[in-house]
Amino acid sequence: MRQPLTRELHDLLERGRDRQLRLAVTGLSRSGKTAFLTSLVNQLRHAGLEARLDLLPAARDGRLLGARRVEQHDLGVPRFPFDRAMSALDDHPPRWPEPTRGISELRLVLRYRPLRPGLMSGETRRLTLDLFDYPGEWLLDLPLLGHDYPSWSRSQTGHGDAREALFADWHREVATLDPAQEVDEGRLAEIAERYAEGLRAAREAGFSDLQPGRFLLPGELEGAPVLQFFPLPGIADADPAQLAQLPPESLYATLARRFRHYQQHIVRPFYRDHFRRFDRQIVLVDILGALNAGPERFEDLSRALGRLMQSFDYGRRSLLSRLFAPRIDRLAIAATKADHVTPEQHARMTGLLETLLAEPLKDLHFANVPVRALSLAAIRATEAREVNHQGQRQSALRGTTLAGEEALLFPGEVPSRLPDADFWARQGFTFTAFRPLPRDGGALPHIRMDAALDWLIGDKLQ
Ligand code: GDP
Repeated sequence: MRQPLTRELHDLLERGRDRQLRLAVTGLSRSGKTAFLTSLVNQLRHAGLEARLDLLPAARDGRLLGARRVEQHDLGVPRFPFDRAMSALDDHPPRWPEPTRGISELRLVLRYRPLRPGLMSGETRRLTLDLFDYPGEWLLDLPLLGHDYPSWSRSQTGHGDAREALFADWHREVATLDPAQEVDEGRLAEIAERYAEGLRAAREAGFSDLQPGRFLLPGELEGAPVLQFFPLPGIADADPAQLAQLPPESLYATLARRFRHYQQHIVRPFYRDHFRRFDRQIVLVDILGALNAGPERFEDLSRALGRLMQSFDYGRRSLLSRLFAPRIDRLAIAATKADHVTPEQHARMTGLLETLLAEPLKDLHFANVPVRALSLAAIRATEAREVNHQGQRQSALRGTTLAGEEALLFPGEVPSRLPDADFWARQGFTFTAFRPLPRDGGALPHIRMDAALDWLIGDKLQ
């Protein structure tokens, strides 16, 4: 094995020669990250063979010779479970891969023939591609860095929507607490658990705009005291001077300390050690899932995405650029699971995504970060069909439901603008989840993975 220093040097040289790229995939839970990364690796490994990558010129022109997995750089980061994901897809019947729950990494080396070869004909080049997958929920914590404990408490209470009811148990218990009283560790842990339960219930109910992100995906922090805190309703209205006087063992001082610890030791290190070093990023959005879940969840997704996208706004005044200097130079946002609707709806999916993200996109444009929006299916599970419906030709989808039934259906129209009350009242939207198609050992069927690849790495394969 190479010495770490030599490895660092090697990486630096590769970077200098523009032959290394760190590409990160994120999105909220169930947005399709695991499926996306599995498909991406699978497509690149079958490039030049049977993968259909016509929208990626290097592959279409036969210059992309393939990809090999090699040992990753950060040995401390879990490896992305590619083989496990492929075995799930190859099972009888095929299954969707288990989702990843924290950050994971995989390194590929791509071989390609340059567009303009040098003097040596038949010259080949290599691109080292470091792929990362991490929960979008972690990005929801960025705004938390701009708060102190009282102002964070204010921002997290009094949402006034259906979510309040999901936090009823926590509200009842937190109302009995006196911020000045000496902390009872056991009780604090219990109430923190009620808070985490509220967050989990809210996520189950389809809400996305939830903080702190690690409460939902604690990874190795499960049960650690750093995750035992919660907001104190009304504390922002208390006199700051009086709060500062409270003894360190008071409930208020303990919660405020844990909040700071969470900021300094959980949120900041992710940005410092990982996020800051990504070159390119794709954000996946399950826009159809949100349409399926109804108006309140759809609005909540919009809020959560607005917040999540703040991590990519490097305008001079942004919180992030004040803290770190990120270097992502290209961003893709993708509406996933496009195979859940008929092909003529795909453009509407992209339109809806762009409308949903209009504000953050404006900020990104202003900060000069190139962004592309698209719709895709990482692993296509349906086939598009034309059917005769009451004398008219109509497009439909054919697939096998998760319960194993063959289905032929038309799932509905995707609104191309933000859905209004009328849309929800008139039609709403229902889609059925499908089982992945059985594989014949070749590349996974997809929709526009090649377009995503072209935007994210195409310029490095010239
Ligand atoms: P993650 O939590 O972001 O890693 O999400 P996953 O990749 O695990 O995806 C969540 C679920 O969405 C999967 O179990 C599938 O049911 C579904 N899914 C993801 N990608 C696709 C796709 O391209 N097509 C279809 N039909 N379903 C998908």
